[in-house]
Amino acid sequence: MLITGGSRGIGAATAVMAAKSGWDICVNYATNAAAAQEVVAACRAAGASATSVQADVAVESDVIELFEETEVELGPLTCLVNNAGILHPMSRVEDMTVERLREVMDVNVLGAFLCAREAVRRMSTKNGGAGGTIINVSSAASYLGSPNEFVDYAATKGAVDTLTIGLAKEVAAEGIRVNAVRPGLIDTEIHASSGVPDRVDRLASNVPMLRGGTADEVASSILYLASDASSYIAGTLLNVSGGR
Ligand code: NAP
Repeated sequence: MLITGGSRGIGAATAVMAAKSGWDICVNYATNAAAAQEVVAACRAAGASATSVQADVAVESDVIELFEETEVELGPLTCLVNNAGILHPMSRVEDMTVERLREVMDVNVLGAFLCAREAVRRMSTKNGGAGGTIINVSSAASYLGSPNEFVDYAATKGAVDTLTIGLAKEVAAEGIRVNAVRPGLIDTEIHASSGVPDRVDRLASNVPMLRGGTADEVASSILYLASDASSYIAGTLLNVSGGR
């Protein structure tokens, strides 16, 4: 299982939970080598083979090397968790710079496409692969729209939803199931990059369950979609959002 953005948050929780379920893991990260190493150590402690690979998912050559290195270290890929994502400080659309817009589109959309492409090239039975699963990490933002906060980010997750639906139909007969999770308010470090580290606590009362979720609660849904327990599920957008 290759997890993009596996060094922290939802990706890290997925890596450790998957290792405990018997998966071998590649932890991709952008800059935080120490955090990635900690996740690798936790996966190994759970009995898995694990490795970490630095790669910016928005850079095509990095992505190609990431997939090549993963297969050299761990053998053929059977699952991609397309999880790496970024969020900028809260802003109205009228104040967004072109640099900000390009960066969030590049990481959240282009990155997801490039990684999905590399996964299909390897896993599709049409290409000689043995099949597998792709789980895209979208967001409840795709249906909420995130007005006055980050409509740009929400729109990238709308693109991830559409990627999920279209690609799922494209490769369903080639042994690959593509699905997405749409987390709601989850307690990770991503909120600090939006300028509101305590965002989960502040908004918890708006969630029908009256609380934020944990990275582990998203990880268990990702692992369900990666497992044979979801063998007839493709093109599904699974909300993990406490009813929001
Ligand atoms: P996080 O704690 O901020 O972790 C982000 C991860 O992505 C880190 O491992 C980071 O690597 C990696 N990353 C960032 N840019 C990258 C790039 N260009 N290339 C490769 N890796 C990159 O975030 P999170 O909350 O776990 O979010 C994970 C996913 O869930 C994202 O797609 C996010 O949009 C989605 N999501 C989160 C929430 C939430 O409330 N937390 C809700 C809905 C959806 P480094 O450690 O090297 O920086």
